Amino acid sequence: MSLRLLSVSALALGLVALAPQASAQDAATVERAIAIRDAALTSNIALDYVTQLTTRFGARPAGSKSEQDAAAWAADYLRAHGFQNVRIEEFPLVGWERGEGSAAIVGKNAQSLVAAALGHSPATPRGGVEADVVRFSSFEDLQAASDAAVRGKIVYVDLGQMHAMQDGSGYGPQTRVRGAGPGVAAAKGAAAFVMRSVGSDEDRMPHTGTTRYVDGKPTIPSFALSAPDADQVSRLIALGEPMRMRLISTAHTYVTHSQNVIGDLPGATRPDEVIVLGSHMDSWDLGTGAIDDGAGGAITVAAAKAIADSGRRPARTIRVIFYGSEEVAQPTPETGNGGGVYARALGAAAEKHIIAGESDFGADRVYALRLPAGAQGSDFQKAATRVLYPIGVLASDRVETDGGVDIGPLGPLGVPFFGLAQDGTRYFDLHHTANDTLDKIDPAQLSQNVAAWAGLVWLIADSGVDFRAMRPATAAPAH
Ligand SMILES: [Zn+2]
Repeated sequence: MSLRLLSVSALALGLVALAPQASAQDAATVERAIAIRDAALTSNIALDYVTQLTTRFGARPAGSKSEQDAAAWAADYLRAHGFQNVRIEEFPLVGWERGEGSAAIVGKNAQSLVAAALGHSPATPRGGVEADVVRFSSFEDLQAASDAAVRGKIVYVDLGQMHAMQDGSGYGPQTRVRGAGPGVAAAKGAAAFVMRSVGSDEDRMPHTGTTRYVDGKPTIPSFALSAPDADQVSRLIALGEPMRMRLISTAHTYVTHSQNVIGDLPGATRPDEVIVLGSHMDSWDLGTGAIDDGAGGAITVAAAKAIADSGRRPARTIRVIFYGSEEVAQPTPETGNGGGVYARALGAAAEKHIIAGESDFGADRVYALRLPAGAQGSDFQKAATRVLYPIGVLASDRVETDGGVDIGPLGPLGVPFFGLAQDGTRYFDLHHTANDTLDKIDPAQLSQNVAAWAGLVWLIADSGVDFRAMRPATAAPAH
């Protein structure tokens, strides 16, 4: 704690020294940003949007009728709130439906388990898959296993509990197992794949998430066990008990479409210059997609609306995009997610995309601003700090390189990214579970998000800041 206080007071001192360096125009822009920030704190748009979205449509799996209906409703919502050029960008998709499923230990110590099929898992044969279980405690151990050790068995990978971290950094290593594990097990002749849920909770709720096809082909039936069930299975194996499971799933794919919903607040003087505020419309099927990612849509639409309501339109265009199909799309160049569809359709307009930001990490408070390479220590970062510091957001030296799944495809086109990093400490307790519901959103923290986005986006939208020009000569666009 003392370290944190020290750095905060040092920053505060720095601010006092910096203030006189701002030009008059910058000062006016910053003053407006502060006023917009404060007005955004009292806006009820974000809570209204995410409440209506999650209540009216519930779960919104990519390509489902509920995602399509929610997109049409969201387009109307944008129009009703003054957005212009509102359009729906439709694209084909192979959808996935969970159907029915179950998991159980059979034979000695028979008991039922709480599990969920992973997205894009194929169905089991009618009557299920029943086989002995072979357990691995790391992805590398599974990779190193002989085919003979795995063939005909149910592979079970238990990496242990994911650590809850503010920045969510425990997630990546575990999703590698979810994405690639079924393919590795299938190549060795496994009958099915089971893993401990990727999550930081101890609730009896499995976390779903998509798995990856190998060479464009489905792998083997794949499931996530809830944390308590994963512990149960691992304890029985540690006791030396035989472990045999029966897994049943009627999951299936179908041909459908998804869509991006796009709405603009056209810039007053340079409308061809665009700032993208992204989030995704689709959700997993188990919850109602409140934190993932109804909240992101709520934050971005409310931030843009706060700017529109400020009485002066900024110079540049602010574009809100609710992307379709972030969660389940298989990574091929032709299909994939809404972010890829939007980027591929842009053409030369990509050069006029000033910057893009994505809100897809729940609704808890923003604590750090990350800017593109070269903007660290810039006058822009200092101005942004004046707006964001009073609501608890610190400028970070960390460069925003990835953006996120939705805006990521803009990176290779040269579009810079910003990131408003949110506290993700409890995000992976809820993420991709039946517990991702509206009640998990804290309205006060949601409002702080809106305020941070509104203040920052105003600074970018009503200034000539050029992040490409700040980019170090050695820094290539993010790939
Ligand atoms: Zn998400």
